Amino acid sequence: MQKPVYKRIVLKVSGESLSGNNGYGIDAAMISSIAEQVKEVVELNVEVAIVCGGGNIWRGIAGSAKGIDRATADYMGMLATVMNSLALQDALEQIDVPTRVQTSIAMQQIAEPYIRRRAIRHLEKGRVVIFAAGTGNPFFSTDTTAALRAAEIEAEVILMAKNKVDGVYSADPFKDATAEKFETLTYLEVLNRNLGVMDSTASSLCMDNDIPLVVFSITEQGNIKRVVLGEKIGTIVMKGSVN
Ligand code: UDP
Repeated sequence: MQKPVYKRIVLKVSGESLSGNNGYGIDAAMISSIAEQVKEVVELNVEVAIVCGGGNIWRGIAGSAKGIDRATADYMGMLATVMNSLALQDALEQIDVPTRVQTSIAMQQIAEPYIRRRAIRHLEKGRVVIFAAGTGNPFFSTDTTAALRAAEIEAEVILMAKNKVDGVYSADPFKDATAEKFETLTYLEVLNRNLGVMDSTASSLCMDNDIPLVVFSITEQGNIKRVVLGEKIGTIVMKGSVN
């Protein structure tokens, strides 16, 4: 059996990547592709926790630009992540991957509340755990949620799945032909160069807690497994210099 380089991972799935090419809503083909890729990794006995974004349905900042109170708009965004999480749970269970959703905002009829030790127990039993409703706090993001939960459950790495790019670039590769892809970066470089990998709160949290991040494309089937097996695809962001 191939040997994974990580035992426990947090996979960050943005809302956008669930929407496929539509840019909005949930794309059935995309969500089942992600579920299949997660299954491949679970079969390697890797413990997988997932943080789902919500930007394919609602973003707090966009809502507040339309005049909705920012905190209220952010709570709406957190609810959007719950919808995505349930869709992903369904896709995983359809292919026989036992999955639990835990929400940071209590909604017991729908999912378990977030309980750290219980989440770890699920992981140890080989269940996928999806962390929904972000951190439960407005003014934060699901990237920050991924950093926070990774620190809490002592995950070794955050895998940041992208659907448009295959790593971190020096500039927007769709607008600038000279944009170069980085193989490795430090969090300080990400922060200083404002590279937009994740928001600064999330980057700082990862840096302070020494959690590496791999940014890669999820649109290519099998990529999650490639990263887990240590193949160098995408961009690795670390606390200190890699060399
Ligand atoms: N959100 C929040 N607190 C959190 C996580 C998310 O308020 O801890 C809200 C915020 O409004 C955000 C929305 O939920 O815009 C969707 O999350 P995010 O934008 O991080 O999703 P993604 O970009 O990954 O799809």
